[in-house]
Amino acid sequence: MRVQAAFASGQNRPIEVADFDLDGPRRGEVLVEMKAAGLCHSDMSFFDGSRNWTDYPIVLGHEGAGVVREVGAGVTSLSSGDHVILVGIPECGSCPACRSRKTNLCDQYFRQVDRRPLSRDGRSVRAFCELGTFSPFLTVREWQAARIRPDVPLDAICCLSCAGATGVGSAIFTAKVEPGSSVVVYGLGGIGLNVVEGARIAGATTIIGVDTNPAKEETARRLGVTHFIDPRSMADVVGAVRDITRGGSDYAFECVGSSAILSQAVESTRIGWGTTVTIGILPGDQRVDLRPRALQEGRRLMGSYLGNIKTRSELPLLADWYAEGKLHFDDLISHRIGLADIRAGFHLLASGEARRVVVTF
Ligand SMILES: [Zn+2]
Ligand SMILES: [Zn+2]
Repeated sequence: MRVQAAFASGQNRPIEVADFDLDGPRRGEVLVEMKAAGLCHSDMSFFDGSRNWTDYPIVLGHEGAGVVREVGAGVTSLSSGDHVILVGIPECGSCPACRSRKTNLCDQYFRQVDRRPLSRDGRSVRAFCELGTFSPFLTVREWQAARIRPDVPLDAICCLSCAGATGVGSAIFTAKVEPGSSVVVYGLGGIGLNVVEGARIAGATTIIGVDTNPAKEETARRLGVTHFIDPRSMADVVGAVRDITRGGSDYAFECVGSSAILSQAVESTRIGWGTTVTIGILPGDQRVDLRPRALQEGRRLMGSYLGNIKTRSELPLLADWYAEGKLHFDDLISHRIGLADIRAGFHLLASGEARRVVVTF
């Protein structure tokens, strides 16, 4: 099959759209017709110079939702016509990690596979996360497609693949925020706003949002933020959080990807039990820089990958929450574009002007 897909051809070169050939599903694989795909900062890292990558070209996109159109031999959990969310972390269901309640990081995720169903001019090419959702059709492993109920709009919930799972999951599944607790969220982009959603659903009563873009305040307050701090007009953000929460927040979430902000996040939590979840990806040259006593005083620092949500058995629950009106993904999507406009879409995302940009097919 011939498809038009968006890809990176090298570092510091703009994202392009071109024709590729796509193989049909082999054993254990399915063909998915894409309906919507979200743009994420980690796609940008393949062409903005921030990632050490050499295997170009690579088809981008790791957020997305669509409809199964064909199943390969041996596929047992999906049928043609199923609505699915594509997921970067597989859930094979049988490895030690999948059998454990402690993690969502399936062992298959770390196993080097060289599946290349896409090719260009006769040369096979990689796809980001073994997905490459910026294409109208994908061939993926059964383990990387999570079946969801058919009555939710796919363009609204496609963000579940990455930002939605990461944000909502970090609050509910990683930190396990409790009713009545206080939360501070550093960075109110697509992930930070989803942390706000998760914190609100978990019953947090004080939710402080910290962001340098005052335009984010309105949406953030609609989703549950009770206090908004613009660090450019507040010299002592940590002091302000401690004042609002009378001594420090119960939970902090770092969604920017900055060592300095991660340190602030930890310092703004309460002595004794304050828990910080690190979500933003620190640039390769940055190390976690903490005052040792900050942790000795009983605070905790946790990592989270895709919100600790098991991608096929638990993630579909979030689609149910959307259908029930508990999650407001419609508020998160600021722009819907066609694939031909993807370069402009990434400009919007990079400028901070957009909350979430979604390609619809
Ligand atoms: Zn992402
Ligand atoms: Zn597994």
